[in-house]
Amino acid sequence: MENLQDLTKKAQAALGKQADVIAASPGRVNLIGEHIDYCDGFVMPFALDRYIVIAAARNGTSQAKFSSAGMPDVVIPLGQPLEVTEPKWGNYVRGVIHGFYQRGLVPPSFDAYVVSSVPGGAGLSSSAALECAVATLLEGLCGITLDKKDKALLSQKAEHDFAHVPCGIMDQFASTFGEKDKLVMIDCRSGEPSMVPFENPDLTVIIANTRVHHELSDGGYALRRKHTEDALALIGKPSWRDVSMADVAANWEKMGTPVQLRARHVVGEISRTQNAATALAAGDYTTLGKLMYESHESLKNDFAVSCVELDHMVEIAQSIGQKGGVIGSRMTGGGFGGSTVTLCESSRAAEIMEKMASEYKQRTGINAEIFSSRPSQGAHLILA
Ligand code: ADP
Ligand code: MG
Repeated sequence: MENLQDLTKKAQAALGKQADVIAASPGRVNLIGEHIDYCDGFVMPFALDRYIVIAAARNGTSQAKFSSAGMPDVVIPLGQPLEVTEPKWGNYVRGVIHGFYQRGLVPPSFDAYVVSSVPGGAGLSSSAALECAVATLLEGLCGITLDKKDKALLSQKAEHDFAHVPCGIMDQFASTFGEKDKLVMIDCRSGEPSMVPFENPDLTVIIANTRVHHELSDGGYALRRKHTEDALALIGKPSWRDVSMADVAANWEKMGTPVQLRARHVVGEISRTQNAATALAAGDYTTLGKLMYESHESLKNDFAVSCVELDHMVEIAQSIGQKGGVIGSRMTGGGFGGSTVTLCESSRAAEIMEKMASEYKQRTGINAEIFSSRPSQGAHLILA
């Protein structure tokens, strides 16, 4: 896989003329805390060493043109109202430009070329990587620096209003705030990230892309979000952070299925994530691993966002077990396909990845994409 330097060269070459600005922003993987970033919960993602890189040169016209291999070009007349339109990938770009307009910023016209090492639609948030890379590119072109939190929120709003995915704040925060050897622990009620050290070289994070993919915008994600809103309204508390398991039990009949199950996931996952942070800080990897498996079970049974392929991948890792160097495993991201995240001992990582790939192939006939990653630098300008 291309490293950031190779990607940068590739973007510069594909642009076909000397770039004025080059921006990069990473995908992310979430260690634990799933589907609770829109429920005032805690989440613990990190920025992958996989990036979307965009190289741009001013073009002296009145429009911005974005190209990406295998995709139709996106041409945007600047300084005019923006609408949701084809091609679809251009909506992420339009949404971010719209956010700049709302802040009184109109970038100078330019041509841009997008390259990526973030697998798309794999639960690793290539969409947030794209939004945050565009936002960072526009910072460079406008000669300004947005507050990081504002940049993440602007990018999230682009996804809401232009791609119509009602995502929480995790993806854009991870892509923006990511740092080398740090997890981005986000308190989604206060909207404040805090950096959690993840430096132990004996720990490796394996990402396994099942290569099955269901669009998040096709309703499954939005429906889960609605279930959680309905549940909270029925429980009658202002925030999920004020809800206990006893509250869930007391309102169980009133909520009915499936809303009661969604509520149990949210409350359980918030406490699992807090406990995981404590376990990680204490070096208690057995507890951390147990919490990851519990998270997966809850996402599968109560939140119903897993699928057969994700379950296979987690089962395979779990069957390798602690003896084989696996600490814990779970689905990661929105679900309905995509990837799993597996924590393991570094010395065993290569053989674990091989076993996961061959066993998964045997069970499903699919060649998974399996790689390891370390927490890496978030969105930044490479050239400005
Ligand atoms: P995920 O964020 O999990 O990867 P999404 O469905 O949210 O999946 O976002 C994927 C979409 O993001 C793609 O369908 C495409 O519109 C856009 N996208 C991702 N990577 C690129 C790229 N390299 N070039 C153009 N568009 C991209
Ligand atoms: Mg996405």
